[in-house]
Amino acid sequence: MLRGASLRVTRPRVAVLSAVHEHPHADTDSIIGVVRDDLGDVSHQAVYDVLRALTNAGLLRRIQPSGSVARYEARIGDNHHHAVCRSCGSIADVDCAVGEKPCLTASDEHGFVIDEAEVVYWGLCPACQSNSETGEKDRRV
Ligand SMILES: [Zn+2]
Ligand SMILES: [Zn+2]
Repeated sequence: MLRGASLRVTRPRVAVLSAVHEHPHADTDSIIGVVRDDLGDVSHQAVYDVLRALTNAGLLRRIQPSGSVARYEARIGDNHHHAVCRSCGSIADVDCAVGEKPCLTASDEHGFVIDEAEVVYWGLCPACQSNSETGEKDRRV
């Protein structure tokens, strides 16, 4: 993948890429943890730099639902969306119903050439639904 994007293959880049493959929607801190398990001591800054380079090269996608820190995934280029739990913040992939961008037609394009619609589905994940059924509705995790 790195060579395909004309990036030099370095151990931190390989480690970050495989960490994100194995842990979709991981945030920076958890990626740092996984990379350290793999490579030993790697600085925060090094991991930040690699995440930025891989995102700019299109090998990773960065998502940031409102109220959440930035998260990364290696599933790129298929215009999939995300369902985000309002209570615990867990994230699930949702295939695009149309399959390509932009999957929503604007009621008024105002002269813009629109090439993407960002869709986030908000709700409660299965675990949080069963918590609220047992009367813990207002306890936020
Ligand atoms: Zn939840
Ligand atoms: Zn995703």
